[in-house]
Amino acid sequence: MPDYLARLNPEQRAAVEALDGPLLVLAGAGTGKTRVLTTRFAHLLVTRRAFPSQVLAVTFTNKAAREMRERVSAIIGRPAEGLWLGTFHALGARMLRRHAEHVGLKSNFTILDTDDQMRLLKQVMEAAGVDLRRWPAPGLMALLQRWKDRGLTPERVTPAEDSDYANGRARALYAAYQQRLRDLNAADFGDLLLHTTEILRTEPEVLAQYHRAFRYILVDEYQDTNLVQYLWLRLLAQGHGNICCVGDDDQSIYSWRGAEIENILRFERDFPDARVVRLERNYRSTRPILAAAAGLIAHNRSRLGKTLRPGRDDAEGEKVQVVALWDSEEEARMVGERIEAAQRAGHPLSEIAILVRAGFQTRAFEERLIALGIPYRVVGGARFYEREEVRDALAYMRVLVQPADDLAFERIVNKPKRGLGDSALRALHERARLERSPLAVAAERLAFSAEGLRPRPRQALAELMRGFARWREQLRRDGHVATVAAMLDESGYTEMWKQDRSPEAPGRLENLKELLRALGEFESLAGFLDHVALVMENDEQAEGERVALMTLHAAKGLEFDMVFLPGWEEGLFPSQRALDEGGEKALEEERRLAYVGLTRARKVAVVSHAANRRVYGNWTAAIPSRFLDELPEEHVEKAGGAALERQRAAGAASMFAGPLALAARRPPPRIYETGSWEIAERPPRAEPIAVGERVFHQKFGYGRVLAVEEDRLDIAFDKAGTKRVLDRFVEKA
Ligand code: ATP
Ligand code: MG
Repeated sequence: MPDYLARLNPEQRAAVEALDGPLLVLAGAGTGKTRVLTTRFAHLLVTRRAFPSQVLAVTFTNKAAREMRERVSAIIGRPAEGLWLGTFHALGARMLRRHAEHVGLKSNFTILDTDDQMRLLKQVMEAAGVDLRRWPAPGLMALLQRWKDRGLTPERVTPAEDSDYANGRARALYAAYQQRLRDLNAADFGDLLLHTTEILRTEPEVLAQYHRAFRYILVDEYQDTNLVQYLWLRLLAQGHGNICCVGDDDQSIYSWRGAEIENILRFERDFPDARVVRLERNYRSTRPILAAAAGLIAHNRSRLGKTLRPGRDDAEGEKVQVVALWDSEEEARMVGERIEAAQRAGHPLSEIAILVRAGFQTRAFEERLIALGIPYRVVGGARFYEREEVRDALAYMRVLVQPADDLAFERIVNKPKRGLGDSALRALHERARLERSPLAVAAERLAFSAEGLRPRPRQALAELMRGFARWREQLRRDGHVATVAAMLDESGYTEMWKQDRSPEAPGRLENLKELLRALGEFESLAGFLDHVALVMENDEQAEGERVALMTLHAAKGLEFDMVFLPGWEEGLFPSQRALDEGGEKALEEERRLAYVGLTRARKVAVVSHAANRRVYGNWTAAIPSRFLDELPEEHVEKAGGAALERQRAAGAASMFAGPLALAARRPPPRIYETGSWEIAERPPRAEPIAVGERVFHQKFGYGRVLAVEEDRLDIAFDKAGTKRVLDRFVEKA
């Protein structure tokens, strides 16, 4: 038996060797599905069943495609070239370039990004006389995407499937949009598979050509395919039927992007002679991690159901740790400390991951890791302070404190769109150059003089400049957080993302909220901007060993020795959106996400939750996630962070009651809403704090006051040493 087959267990080997006919591998996390698929690929080549170009292999990410290519090469002992190996999008694009003429495109068509798509759709709607205020374009965009995910060209949308959007004109607008794309020789992401599927459906010769070309089809993460992907696969597999799909219904986490778990059931129906192989031995995780994950997912009702047992020889290991902490900062501190300890003990950083539910959560960890000098990378996204909306908001802040910051001014002058077209911007630059003045100064001049600009852009510019004058005044009066909150709203910036219906938009708003929270930890806007500049400077980190930070969604298929799962709180995980929807369905998808998270860990899984989430300068109590209660107790070890340990020592009845009880003793925050943001502010203290008094500080915990100087206090903290802090963040203990 060749080496690569000997490395498989009998069930896996059967799945690799059953080369002909349809095969479905339905198995839990870490059972070797991906290994089976890779080995099968290699086996096809080694046994000369197929040339490399005759295998079509679909992975969920480009990274997974790279890995598979490397592993196949390693098994066959030479570079694997000319492979049709990649994501659905990548493969679809490649195919479409070859047959573009069948759908009225040229092979050099452009692939539009989401911005361009939206702009185009708006043009189409305007041309059709649709009232964009009544029927915002993002709504239609979402509808078109859903249709494309289901393989529906405008012609295939039946009246029954039409929507009442824009008084029943959605289908016609869809057709007009597609025509516009053709005129521009362009395709959007959805078209890559929509068009190729349509070609395979309607051009028998092309279909026959691919039947000859692809003898074998391999699909990873099958549970997350949507309908058009399924149709595309089914068309290509017709005839020989040599299709092998591997998946796990418990890891279906992309229904919000149109993935349909029913595709698993459909497979068995469409390929009646399909063999179904189940793998039950998990080679990734220790027994306690597996048992915890299994106990959790057992709470889902809609499951196909399967068994998972430990397959590793060294499956015994530590229990899953559940750590309760005071707030997200202490949570980040705990994670940082443990990573440092692991590093000291010789664990490679690349074997450590922090998996968050929502993108905004990365900020606290990034700052902590930077403070500790631990290299990290954010997988599948940008670092917090480099995200588009965060950079935009920072640019607004920079202009506020430093009007001569031309780079910042340029970034935001027409963001959101204020009708400052190219010619207006040229006039602005020209003026600044002539006067040798910063752009903002030139803008003032142009905005309030009669010449140089047409009325509309002049008005827009005047409004922006008046805004900055007003916000500068407000900054002196109301403080930096309230001012920045108001600035983001009044400039139209917040609204821009609220109007945006792309799946990323809610996350962007959350990032802005997190930015305001971060801002609240600083005394002044300038101080905060300095901090950000320092954090960003840390940009160029050495290549090599790094901790991975990513969302749970991005972690699918990956594995690490040590996994941190922070933020298991109601409203965060499960997400507020899932709770608002109220149904079992959304909740079950969140639970699958939790299952994906836990099963990424090989040896150590640390789940944590904060008792309080900070809202500017104050706390709101957070309720531990219901998923924590669903972890079987015998496989879990509970612990508290420093602040909570203090609580327990002080006799709090239970771990969860502790922080909540303490939170209840604090003066209630004065929460006021300003526009889109809820800002909580500590009410003014009635009596001043005196030297010798015992106090509590948000960040440093308990201590005794050594000296008082206006609003600054020198405090000897029990744990953190002596520090000078702002009295705003301190209260009597
Ligand atoms: P997921 O559902 O998370 O995508 P998976 O089913 O694809 O998981 P793999 O990633 O293929 O699982 O395998 C999990 C781990 O177990 C990998 O490190 C893999 O190398 C290892 N593994 C798989 N099969 C075996 C085996 N027979 N013997 C030893 N190790 C194995
Ligand atoms: Mg896998």
